[in-house]
Amino acid sequence: MSKGLSGKQEKTTKELESIRSLLDSVWDLKATEVSQLMGYEIITYRVDTATGRYILKKYPDRHDVETRLHLENRVLDLLASEKDLSCPEIQKTKDGENIIQIQQSIFRLQSYLEGTFLAERTSLNSSVLRSIGSSLAHMDQLLDKVPEPYPEFDRDWDLQHSVLSEQHLEHIPDVGNRRLAAYFLHQFKTLVLPRQYELPQQLIYADANEWNMLVDDTKVTGIIDFGDMCKSWRVADLAIALAYTLMYSDSPLEDANPILSGYTQIIPLSQMEVDLLYYLVAARLCTSVCWSAKNAIDNPENTYMTISEDRAWRLLHRWIRINPLLARQTFREAAGLPRLIFPKIDEVLQERYRYTSRSLSVSYDQPIHMTGSALQYMYDSEGETYLDAYNNIMLVGHSHPKITQASHRTLSRLNTNTRYLYDELNDYAKSLLSQFPKSLSKIFFVNSGSAATDLALRMAYSHTDKKTCMVLREGYHGNTLAAIGVSHYKYKKGEKPQHSIEVELPNAFSIRDIEIGDPGTYFADRACAKIRENEGQIAAFIAEPIVGCGGQVPLPPGYLKRIYPKIRQQGGVCISDEVQVGFGRLGRVFWGFELQDVVPDIVILGKPMGNGHPIGAVVTTDEIASSFESGPEFFSSFGGNPVSCAIGMSVLDVIREESLQAHALEVGNYFKAELQNLQREFTSIADVRGEGLFLGIELVDSKGKPDGILAVRIANYMKDNGVLISTDGPYNQVLKIKPPLCFTQENVDEFIRVFRKGLNLGNKK
Ligand code: PMP
Repeated sequence: MSKGLSGKQEKTTKELESIRSLLDSVWDLKATEVSQLMGYEIITYRVDTATGRYILKKYPDRHDVETRLHLENRVLDLLASEKDLSCPEIQKTKDGENIIQIQQSIFRLQSYLEGTFLAERTSLNSSVLRSIGSSLAHMDQLLDKVPEPYPEFDRDWDLQHSVLSEQHLEHIPDVGNRRLAAYFLHQFKTLVLPRQYELPQQLIYADANEWNMLVDDTKVTGIIDFGDMCKSWRVADLAIALAYTLMYSDSPLEDANPILSGYTQIIPLSQMEVDLLYYLVAARLCTSVCWSAKNAIDNPENTYMTISEDRAWRLLHRWIRINPLLARQTFREAAGLPRLIFPKIDEVLQERYRYTSRSLSVSYDQPIHMTGSALQYMYDSEGETYLDAYNNIMLVGHSHPKITQASHRTLSRLNTNTRYLYDELNDYAKSLLSQFPKSLSKIFFVNSGSAATDLALRMAYSHTDKKTCMVLREGYHGNTLAAIGVSHYKYKKGEKPQHSIEVELPNAFSIRDIEIGDPGTYFADRACAKIRENEGQIAAFIAEPIVGCGGQVPLPPGYLKRIYPKIRQQGGVCISDEVQVGFGRLGRVFWGFELQDVVPDIVILGKPMGNGHPIGAVVTTDEIASSFESGPEFFSSFGGNPVSCAIGMSVLDVIREESLQAHALEVGNYFKAELQNLQREFTSIADVRGEGLFLGIELVDSKGKPDGILAVRIANYMKDNGVLISTDGPYNQVLKIKPPLCFTQENVDEFIRVFRKGLNLGNKK
């Protein structure tokens, strides 16, 4: 063994030696230097000679490779006559052959194109961008002339088979990235694939990436690597070029424009091709990141295979923030197609009032007309994208692919009224009940939080044979007659229902100037006095662990632990309304009642349970369920139907798979700390409270009084600046934060940036 050379180096040296002699014997070329370049699958050598530079490629000797090389050679011969576009030229062997087979390998020698790769440019001007589009279009025109039959093509990188990348999603280590790629692949499946037969096909180049295009200051000077050519959607060439070029752009939509117009001035595209581009670009990026993740596991030492990865992720994260309607509009304009016509918001609002009622109010001074949503973002009809910081219901994220798939799959197979046996109900009931303490072992499915409250009250009344309910002031539990009757927040505008016994909202902040000692004890003692006054008559006590409509008010520690026994002692049951706070949102706990170290007799579930799909439930003890069985039969036509249960089950799965409870804790703590920092700066922030991703910010005026006007102004300001938030509390003075749990620290930073500006509408310390 020669001194100083490792085994690997020695092998490489030997190999390069054999390449030199191959070049000499087959092509009559005396190489002065041979070096191996990075490559994806095929080994590529750069060959220097006294008279010029070449590229030698080594392929596995397989029949499919050989037939594909024949097609490539045909195409390269065709392109050789193209004056405007330089492509590698095949160097024939001494015997006049294009390729040569030696020892289980096929070799091909081609000319070396001098120039700068697109990836090496620091910036791209619109002339270069336009030339990317026009060069591809020229090439596609030529490729379209290559007659069939074509050999069989690989499908892994063919855009029309992007769904194949789904199998590698599991290798993406970061859960947020995995969710993002899964989201776009699902969009591809549901929005692109159904139109696949309407998309024109032809032979395409299919690999316009940043290391395959050579550019100068004004135009594309060369294109290399024809190994991915395939018969696919014509528009795919453009989509792939957009995907890789826009990775290098700080304003992707703006920079897409010249590429598109460059292409479409030569090959006009149909409206459908252009309208689908947004999803096609995303799909290509997904294929790239999925394969990078797979290759990081299979070939950790090959850095070329993950070369575009960071930039692809960066673009995907930007892409989801682009309203698809805005993308469509921009692409249509660039392609010279008719613009989309957006409806006028005021007309949509008037139409809503015409058909429904003004009592169905809408958020914000200027309402938003929503047209789409994706994870923590929402899209309106005017091309804006909003960061959603308060949509409590979309627990795991808007249009989450897992939930959507569960819904499609089940809806396509079985949905029925609930008087049959089907597995989804049993499976879901078992899984959901496993999240509760043992004593809570029975579940009843309904369609909303309100229906759950209604049913919970029915159960409490029938179990206790009493008819009154103790409620918190400012509490809200639903819109049915019975639920309104226990919702002070709603009935306070009219007459107090006879069956309601009110106790004050235990809001320590609201009496901050009074010396009360431990707030939990103080408020609980006052509630217990109320229980004593009504001894023996209270069927139920209902409360949320953090009172949402009351202004995100957490029950003070120890509060329920003192009250629950007293309610039970006089023959009543305790109901925890987990409609807003349940399912891990609070971070530290899965259910809000756990914060108080109590176990209720009845739990009400809704909102996040189906991630927007209407499903609710009542969870209770064996004993209460048995008393209920002796009364009138319970039946809900939809409650717990197969589709609802499949969706509910997938929500639980996603919470677990994406560790969303832990994420809510981490991001929630960060969020709270950032808000507390602002509190030190702005006198208008009087209190920051809540748990995990269920937070409230109480605003006051210069006299320290609740400032609902400022809160509403800030909510409107934030909406105008792309962040959705809402207000609540007795004076509307509390800003409510309850985003989808996929909300990230970067989202928090963005929220804080906009909120800070909004606060400047108020006063500064
Ligand atoms: N309980 C609480 C705490 C709620 O916030 C709500 C809805 N805001 C309900 C019950 C009623 O749920 P739904 O609107 O699904 O009927």
